[in-house]
Amino acid sequence: MADEFDVLIVGAGPVGASLGCALGDTGLRVGILEATSWDGTSPPSYDDRPLALSLGTRQILDSLELWSGIAAQATPIQHIHVSERGRFGVTRIGAEEQDVDALGYVLSARALGAVLRKRLEALPSIPRICPARATHIHREDNALTVEYVLDGRQQSCRTKLLVAADGGQSSVRELLGIGVRKRPYGQMALAANVTPSRPHDNVAYERFSPSGPLALLPMAKNHCGLVWTMGEEQAQAYAQLPEAEFLHCLAQQFGSRLGKFRQVGKRVAYPLALLRAERQVCERAAILGNAAHTLHPVAGQGFNLGLRDVAALAQVLVDGLANGEDPGSTELLEQYAAWRHSDQRQTSFFTDGLIRVFCNDLPLLSPLRGLALLGMDLAGPLKARLARQAMGLTGKLPRLARGLAL
Ligand SMILES: Cc1cc2nc3c(=O)[nH]c(=O)nc-3n(C[C@H](O)[C@H](O)[C@H](O)COP(=O)(O)OP(=O)(O)OC[C@H]3O[C@@H](n4cnc5c(N)ncnc54)[C@H](O)[C@@H]3O)c2cc1C
Repeated sequence: MADEFDVLIVGAGPVGASLGCALGDTGLRVGILEATSWDGTSPPSYDDRPLALSLGTRQILDSLELWSGIAAQATPIQHIHVSERGRFGVTRIGAEEQDVDALGYVLSARALGAVLRKRLEALPSIPRICPARATHIHREDNALTVEYVLDGRQQSCRTKLLVAADGGQSSVRELLGIGVRKRPYGQMALAANVTPSRPHDNVAYERFSPSGPLALLPMAKNHCGLVWTMGEEQAQAYAQLPEAEFLHCLAQQFGSRLGKFRQVGKRVAYPLALLRAERQVCERAAILGNAAHTLHPVAGQGFNLGLRDVAALAQVLVDGLANGEDPGSTELLEQYAAWRHSDQRQTSFFTDGLIRVFCNDLPLLSPLRGLALLGMDLAGPLKARLARQAMGLTGKLPRLARGLAL
């Protein structure tokens, strides 16, 4: 007899795992199918990359009672400093002027993953099917049957709703026949921890140059999470450079605001592309997280956006359950997709726009960029609006993002 679920989540990365945590105690029968083994190597995205969590994300995690496990490892961002290499014009955003305790928080994806996985382990009502990969999907009248390989054997389960949270290369999206619009940036993001000689003072730096943006995010023990975008060949070469040479190149690009860079940890280079699934929902299925929209990490929005999708989908499902509705019904899925459309479009447009405007060497644009940065520094309302959007505090917020129970 195959397992029966109301919601089967494929992918236990940060987005799929968060949805599992959100739906854990709702009365819905939820299962998680993950390609990597639970106890062995953790999923590839729970690595040391620094994640900037927006204020909205903090609120959602708090409502899910996950923040207390995260807080001790998360470093608050008190100021954001945006500049352009070799140009005048700087924008500074401060927590105090925005009337918030912090503009966001930084921690490693590994630390976030550990908290999410621990919560899932404490939810025996959610079976974890892993390491397993979905291989076929069959449509039936009132459910989907998902076939997967587990322990070398073909097995299957039935679900009323299938959620594809299996990352940018989503094979479930493909099995569902949903196409993507994808534009590779022809660049890679080199991520690592670096240690500066001066205290970071909880400032997050974003520095633009024609070759790509460089972010330094404040982390615990005066480490900074580096995310440095550059051409693919250069990224691969920089990942291999001897430490001293690498730190020298970094200092040349970033300048001396943080003193000297003393140490760098493991360097990992990630290929970058802008991706959007052509549909966010289809019959009895929803696409979430990187599978639905993969963004440039320039503004640190990928997971934050995915978590807002999680909070909205969970709310739609729980309200549907209260009204006795089928969790895979077209009405519920359309309701979810319509709700999330505008935020997904705006966030994608915003991050892509930053790269188009700030990371090119068109001579006409260059002085305008300096003026834009300077203008934004002076224009309080515009800066406040952008800051609130980046903090995930605009638009129709789900209950979890307003500090309410699901
Ligand atoms: C350098 C860098 C810095 C970043 N910084 C930030 C930041 O500051 N803030 C922010 O919000 N975001 C940031 N991001 C983006 C963030 O990491 C992603 O948005 C997030 O990891 C997406 O999570 P996900 O769960 O959708 O997908 P993934 O993390 O890709 O997880 C997918 C999961 O699905 C599993 N899987 C894959 N295929 C299958 C299959 N067929 N069957 C079953 N399981 C499968 C995988 O093993 C994995 O566990 C950054 C990204 C990079 C590269």
